[in-house]
Amino acid sequence: MARCASWRPRQKCRRHSSPGLPVTCQDCWRPCFRKTEPGHRRCEECEQSIAQLPGADVKLALLAEGDISPDVLDYLASDSDPLVALEVAQMQDHQHDAATAPAGRAHHHH
Ligand SMILES: [Zn+2]
Ligand SMILES: [Zn+2]
Repeated sequence: MARCASWRPRQKCRRHSSPGLPVTCQDCWRPCFRKTEPGHRRCEECEQSIAQLPGADVKLALLAEGDISPDVLDYLASDSDPLVALEVAQMQDHQHDAATAPAGRAHHHH
């Protein structure tokens, strides 16, 4: 059984107004350990709670890991931070390339 390997923002910390990167502060974050779909490192609830945090650092770190659900990518594509939105646009471009390359070959006629 796969378990979520993500940290989840607690938003109970008195020292930080918004969570920094996971594990830097255990009052900002706690481990999740929820069951996940096989092959997924992080449950969707964690993805969404991280996607909704203020600050670009955690969201860029989430994107850098890859394996993010399309809903969360769509949400981050309109992020107020241009760095995050740009990163999502680049990831979606790569996914688009991967999806269209085999179809392009199928259009070849003999
Ligand atoms: Zn903290
Ligand atoms: Zn989780």
